Amino acid sequence: MSASTPLKLLERARPEILAMQPYSSARMEAGQATIMLNANESPWAPAGDAGPGLNRYPDPQPPALRNRLAELYGIAAEQVLVGRGSDEAIDLLVRAFCREGRDTIAISPPTFGMYAVAARTQGAAVIEAPLGADFAVDADAMLAKISDSTKLVFVCTPNNPTGALVPPGVVEKLALALRDRALVVVDEAYLEFAGDAASAATLLGRHENLAVLRTLSKAYALAGARVGTLLAHAQIVALLRRIQAPYPIPAPCADAALAALSAQGVARARERIATLLGERERLARALPSAAGVLAVYPSSANFLCVRFADAPKAYRTLLALGIIVRDVSRYPGLADCLRITIGTPQENASLLGALGLRESAA
Ligand SMILES: *Cc1c(COP(=O)(O)O)cnc(C)c1O
Repeated sequence: MSASTPLKLLERARPEILAMQPYSSARMEAGQATIMLNANESPWAPAGDAGPGLNRYPDPQPPALRNRLAELYGIAAEQVLVGRGSDEAIDLLVRAFCREGRDTIAISPPTFGMYAVAARTQGAAVIEAPLGADFAVDADAMLAKISDSTKLVFVCTPNNPTGALVPPGVVEKLALALRDRALVVVDEAYLEFAGDAASAATLLGRHENLAVLRTLSKAYALAGARVGTLLAHAQIVALLRRIQAPYPIPAPCADAALAALSAQGVARARERIATLLGERERLARALPSAAGVLAVYPSSANFLCVRFADAPKAYRTLLALGIIVRDVSRYPGLADCLRITIGTPQENASLLGALGLRESAA
């Protein structure tokens, strides 16, 4: 698996993308220069520039951020692609691998909607192998539906919107069966809320056809900065860099991400995750007693998927009290379900109150 041996899976990428000459941005050519007259930037900082350098284009993959993310996720920096949220990585993967009208992706619905949106935008069909009992991914059913046209298989764990964790054995089974044929993309947007569940990044050394998506949007409280990471074989990262926007990470966003990932930032994130898990437990215990709640599904994420006798009614009741939750009832298998994000302890108390629950004082 040395970097110089061409990855067999690359033969499955769109040939025109492998063949093209990628854009070489001016910043990549900066080298040791101190007088930078190569990028048509303003030589002066803008009005109100809080920090130095906003008149300059940022590094396409800011090295300090890339190295910090590599350290955080326990992987080599060359296996890290930083992007505008993991949503960008999903789009890049589909555009790099799927030929319009010919190639397909596979998903296990109900799952995160962006996989299908990215595929349809690219003109790639979506193969669906629905989740089984207890919202479990059925690897055999998935493999049975996958054909030679399938380039990407998306597995979301913990899954949005069900909250269920996918066992690592399922991911490995898919990766082994699809070796050299399809990339198994494991979306771990919520893994920080899943206790000590291991990241699929630990399997990257054994499976070249694996990619892992992580994000700072959820557990690191940085949804507004749009910083997501793809972890994969260095040659997959290099492939996606060919089609990524020239300067995808705005400098203030890289700075915000580095601050959130400082020792202090990580300690705070850990505390908040601990609080959140306590609140998830509290809501999961309390909600089944609310009138009209039929089921609260086990969740390893920062939300609960709740089945109501009448979801539209529950939705309207909450909204009338200023509480908005996510109506996921249109997803297959989730009729009458709402997805409820875990908020602050006070927000959660308001939610329980709105559903007619009064908690006994602790
Ligand atoms: C929220 C979410 C994302 C998006 O993450 P960004 O990094 O903010 O783009 C990706 N995958 C899943 C499953 C999500 O729920």
